[in-house]
Amino acid sequence: MKIRFLGGARTVTGSCFYLSREKNKILVDCGMYQGPGADEINRRKFEFEPSDIDCLFLTHSHLDHVGLVPRLVKEGFKGKIITTSAAADIVELILYDSAHIQESDTEWYNRKALRAGLELKKPIYIRRDVDMVLPLFNRKHYGKIETLCKGLRYRFVDAGHILGSSTLEIWYKDGPGEKKMVFSGDIGKKDNPIVNDPVFVEETDYLTIESTYGNRNHKSRKDSIDELVDVIKETFKKGGNVIIPSFALGRTQDLLFILNKLVKEDRLFRINVYIDSPLAEGITRVYNAHQEYFDEEAKELFNIESRDALRIHFTRRMEDSIALNRIKREAIIIASSGMCEGGRVQHHLKHNLWRKESSIIFVGFQARGTLGRQIVDGAKIVEVLGEKIVVRAGIHTLGGFSAHADQEELLNWISKFRNSPEIFIVHGEEKVSLEFQSLIDERFKYKTHVPSRGEEFEI
Ligand SMILES: [Zn+2]
Ligand SMILES: [Zn+2]
Repeated sequence: MKIRFLGGARTVTGSCFYLSREKNKILVDCGMYQGPGADEINRRKFEFEPSDIDCLFLTHSHLDHVGLVPRLVKEGFKGKIITTSAAADIVELILYDSAHIQESDTEWYNRKALRAGLELKKPIYIRRDVDMVLPLFNRKHYGKIETLCKGLRYRFVDAGHILGSSTLEIWYKDGPGEKKMVFSGDIGKKDNPIVNDPVFVEETDYLTIESTYGNRNHKSRKDSIDELVDVIKETFKKGGNVIIPSFALGRTQDLLFILNKLVKEDRLFRINVYIDSPLAEGITRVYNAHQEYFDEEAKELFNIESRDALRIHFTRRMEDSIALNRIKREAIIIASSGMCEGGRVQHHLKHNLWRKESSIIFVGFQARGTLGRQIVDGAKIVEVLGEKIVVRAGIHTLGGFSAHADQEELLNWISKFRNSPEIFIVHGEEKVSLEFQSLIDERFKYKTHVPSRGEEFEI
């Protein structure tokens, strides 16, 4: 068997791993690159023939793991797409949303390009391309060993990152004996809201592991929750709103769970939460429909009917979103995008950033160059929707809500192997993956690699 690292190698996004053995050609994840220069990379020719691939495994539904699937299908892939049932349902929503963004971004770009005499672009894929993806899904459960073909078996186990996320184990015959490769997927943090804790795998010959936070540990979630309560209470006392920029998948559902729990524990009282994102609404409904994936606490919380329960409002239409601007106090508005680079959150920033009685709470990473980062870095005036807005609202960054295992948890996950696997470190900034490699070398003395894009290994 050979493995080639085609994406998510010495970078966080674009996860894509290619396995080949005689006639079998398998992909694990087919993610989109995100960040500066990503569009060009996402349009690059695939380094394999899509029609040759028998099967695509998806570890979970984040865009950096599934975003190029419609392009793969459009260019000839006809095999099975194997993932968990919850992940498949979320992937569907994520891909339609991504296609919609592709279509509107390209239209906007082309209008400008036409005036400037530049070459026009086509969207990487459109909604109709996503229609062709859906019939290929093959839904599986956690924990059951399945046969893909002669001499190749696999199993998904819970990675505890977001709903339906998996670690993938693959057993394969190559020569006389059987060997095993494990793809960690994105590993969750212990005690993540809603989902179960990550499952530890106890033995493998080879391991491909993520390293997003291979160089640091997170702040405690308990401290972040205490701070969240304080900020909400103080803001409401002052007569303002709380705006939380958040990505539609994962973080938004975690926040709803946490706020719900806080109300049930009487730490917060009768609060109105507005989820201003149709995508987040759709994903929240998928979460609710798949309670079999919940941990015990979440099952209990969702089953108790309480009169004090959180008042959640979904705003689907743009008019309803704009109408929220009339609410001046005691509303919690959760809207995307998480880094304030577009999306409905911009309206809410425009109407609340200048008000000293309101608060903005950042619950996720803010990349350099984004509006979110400018605000977090203390800018006094920012430009929102073409207007200069003074920053007078309280700005808070809560670091304890990450859905990823941190350095200590990743090392702990590795420590559960009873044998000595050869390890490939992926899904991290280059510097971070290299730092994580030296830590593994120091602690476990296993053979390790930080593969570059396109690098191939015999396994
Ligand atoms: Zn993820
Ligand atoms: Zn990821």
